[in-house]
Amino acid sequence: MNRPYIVQVVSLGCAKNFVDTEVICGGLAADGVLLSPDREDADLVLVNTCGFIEDARREADREIRDALKWKRQKRGRAVMVAGCLPRRLREKAEELYPEVDLFLGLDDVGRAAELVRALRNRAGEGRNLPPDHLPTYLYDHTAPRLALTPASYGYVKIGEGCDHRCAYCIIPDIRGRQRSRSIDSVVEECRQLLDQGRLELDLIAQDTTRYGLDREDGANLARLIEAVDRLPGDFLIRILYTHPLYLTDEIIAAAANAEHVAPYLDIPLQHISTPILKAMRRGLDGPATRERMARLRELWPGVAVRTTFLFGFPGETDEQAEEVIAYCRDYPFERLGTFAFSPEEGTAAATMPGQVPRAVAEARRDALLAQQQKQSLARNQALVGQHLRVLVDAAAGKREFLGRTLRDAPEIDNLVHLRGPRDCLERGFVDVLIERAEAYDLHGKVLE
Ligand code: SF4
Repeated sequence: MNRPYIVQVVSLGCAKNFVDTEVICGGLAADGVLLSPDREDADLVLVNTCGFIEDARREADREIRDALKWKRQKRGRAVMVAGCLPRRLREKAEELYPEVDLFLGLDDVGRAAELVRALRNRAGEGRNLPPDHLPTYLYDHTAPRLALTPASYGYVKIGEGCDHRCAYCIIPDIRGRQRSRSIDSVVEECRQLLDQGRLELDLIAQDTTRYGLDREDGANLARLIEAVDRLPGDFLIRILYTHPLYLTDEIIAAAANAEHVAPYLDIPLQHISTPILKAMRRGLDGPATRERMARLRELWPGVAVRTTFLFGFPGETDEQAEEVIAYCRDYPFERLGTFAFSPEEGTAAATMPGQVPRAVAEARRDALLAQQQKQSLARNQALVGQHLRVLVDAAAGKREFLGRTLRDAPEIDNLVHLRGPRDCLERGFVDVLIERAEAYDLHGKVLE
């Protein structure tokens, strides 16, 4: 009997790239390939990369070089590199990694099995560098997909690509123009995930608020939320990666009035000072951004808002950075991430005058983080003694588990450390008495 071909997968970067990994793996599994967490068993290592910023490229480089070292140890082993990095580097990828057997372009995500089969038969067309044109591929509910997240949640990529031209971002050149799936296809995928027992559906895209606007059938995020919300059962819909420019009253109302939408919105703002927002080309100035965010609170009471801010954009002054910190003190955001600007080759911001030293950007970032930490601790301490509904994601020991409140997204927000009966993981949603608070995480026990 022929031994099955075994692939080990390393998935880097954001949730959108992670969905690509799941589709690649689904195609491979449908073709009889076995997936193994153990590299020593494998015939091929797939590294699905992120190429967004310098840190991500460094991590991808490390993983690719590790995989190539493994390849050199035994004849017949192969390495495949997918994702944003080869798309961004193009010919340079071949020069940098001459031993990689197969580069998988973003348009090849749905035909990974075919290319791997050709590689196994040594019948591939060279090394398949991603083409020069912008990618157009987008999976749908018929694509085989192997769920690799914990069983409690699943990502649903409702669209791909981005039509914004934020001055610091290379994503539109890597991922192509915005393209949205049909409402029917998204609803069908959500139904499949719920049938598998997923309890949380995380809607993602480069900009979810622009969902559907590239289509001619009237689809938009509000209608999509309403359609997914009509699915039966006890589950959560979580909306990630929105943009303030397209956050309409209609979208907020649809989310706020839905039965299943988690009281949570992820809305990266990046800045609040008008000159910086203009230079960033975010499409909204400071007052308009503040107005949108106030409207969000007004139309959706109780929503937990997650945002990110970018410090050290070219030309940013101490006063403008302070404006961000003061805004966060007053708004305030329940969840917050911050980044220090890094000039990305090929973006408008990379060559703008007034580049801010990295150390200055990091000091501004750290000042906001210190403030956020205090605010978050006070907010968490107010939860001690309360009963919260928690979604259990994983076991963490004997009768110990990790979960999230409805106001926390997977992999990025706060955790709840739980003690409870053995069947917590199977139960999914549990009621928890919060007993102790840290700056970000909570501790509690499951109420029987
Ligand atoms: S909205 Fe801006 S930051 Fe986000 S992917 Fe599009 S261009 Fe990049």
